[in-house]
Amino acid sequence: SRNVAIVGRPNVGKSRLFNRLAKRRVTIVHDQPGITRDVISFDVADGGYTLLDTGGLGLVGGESTAELTAASEQQVDFAIAAADLILFVVDGIEGLTALDTRIASMLRRSKKTVQVVINKADFGEEKIDFADIYRLGLGEPVQVSAEHGRGEADLRETIISHIGPPVPEDEDTADKTARDPLCVCFIGRPNVGKSSLSNRLLKSDRLIVSATAGTTRDAVELPFQFKARNNKLIDFTLIDTAGIKANTKLASPVEYFSRLRALDSIQKADVIYMVVDALEGITQQDKAIAGEAVKESKPIIVVVNKWDLVLEAFKDDDISTQMYKNERDYREKYEKALFERLFFTPGSPVIFVSAVSAFEIDRMLNSAVKINRLLDMKIPTARLNALIVKLTERMPPPAIGGRRFKIYYATQTGNRPFRFRIFCNREEKLPENYRRYLERGIVNEFGLEGCPMLFRLIGKE
Ligand code: GDP
Repeated sequence: SRNVAIVGRPNVGKSRLFNRLAKRRVTIVHDQPGITRDVISFDVADGGYTLLDTGGLGLVGGESTAELTAASEQQVDFAIAAADLILFVVDGIEGLTALDTRIASMLRRSKKTVQVVINKADFGEEKIDFADIYRLGLGEPVQVSAEHGRGEADLRETIISHIGPPVPEDEDTADKTARDPLCVCFIGRPNVGKSSLSNRLLKSDRLIVSATAGTTRDAVELPFQFKARNNKLIDFTLIDTAGIKANTKLASPVEYFSRLRALDSIQKADVIYMVVDALEGITQQDKAIAGEAVKESKPIIVVVNKWDLVLEAFKDDDISTQMYKNERDYREKYEKALFERLFFTPGSPVIFVSAVSAFEIDRMLNSAVKINRLLDMKIPTARLNALIVKLTERMPPPAIGGRRFKIYYATQTGNRPFRFRIFCNREEKLPENYRRYLERGIVNEFGLEGCPMLFRLIGKE
């Protein structure tokens, strides 16, 4: 995402300029009564960038010169960390002040792209001395009147000349999944049915299936096609791996080698199928294996295989099924128990399948198609921040060392996995449970079930 930040000392007209570029008439400092936003962001659709007004940062109500200076410096620091282009607004009527010079030297040192904007260039009573402006060492200024709109088109063009034209919004993300094969792999303990599932997908029996644990050794890439829910033909690549053993007790060099190959497959795959045995449930070894996928920030779909045996038991009114109302009830309880053990991947879809009867194999594949599509989502910065405000209000971040923790602004910086940069007032790590709370909030808001997320905190006192 491309960020353009507006900085400048108080009263030079930063909010006016922000509203002008955002084509908003009113100041949107208060989206909801009683909330002061420290940083306001707006996605300028036709420019393909996000505009940031930092004007609220660091203001605590004090008006003294020292406090205003400190606040301005905090704003500039933030802009340097968050923006690709910084619009440095100065006042054309008042001219440059000592604080302007100070801000200019911070900006120069940062080596960021800076555009000086002379505001209030409208009444012909500008006192600003152009020689002073050039002495700031920040290049050619543009003149605008945020109040009356003068110079607006010029400024828009200048912004684009710095950051480049808008990148066409990935219209082709939809066919990207169709064009590029969707890479999946099965991981799991020996004998849970990985090879049987692979053969089912490939409609072949060319892989060795054996009741003896661990007969598949080599990682191979196998193409196949699948007609997804929307009737679109999806190209898959199955990376077939030998079973991973937990880190400890690697019996032989061969085993060690296959473990490496399995990790290699996890890295290559877009979506991981973590296969467990319906009758055996989650073992310690399963947890270790799932941990490998989590470490790589790969989306995991939990596949509970051999469900035909469970269906069979219900059909036969087997003694083992009598404490459950029906198969659905059993599934629900099974899933709950499963996540008590796989607590570190709480959002993963769980699909109950049978390699033998082909039960729900389509659902298993559709689930990967869906996640693969979600992985390309670009979350608009303004929507993300509206959500962050809502979440931090509902449950404020805990104070650390007796001092409050504040989140100013968040932006998505990457996909596969989702990466977010979070700007806050502190350097310390966000407490783990609060990170989970934010993650859950984002997952719920944007429907990103099963997609791992990485947060990078940027803070400064
Ligand atoms: P892998 O070691 O994980 O590749 O497991 P295999 O695919 O070799 O399967 C191990 C054993 O479980 C074999 O005897 C399979 O026939 C059996 N098996 C695999 N999938 C199913 C299933 O869905 N239902 C039943 N009943 N048995 C299965």
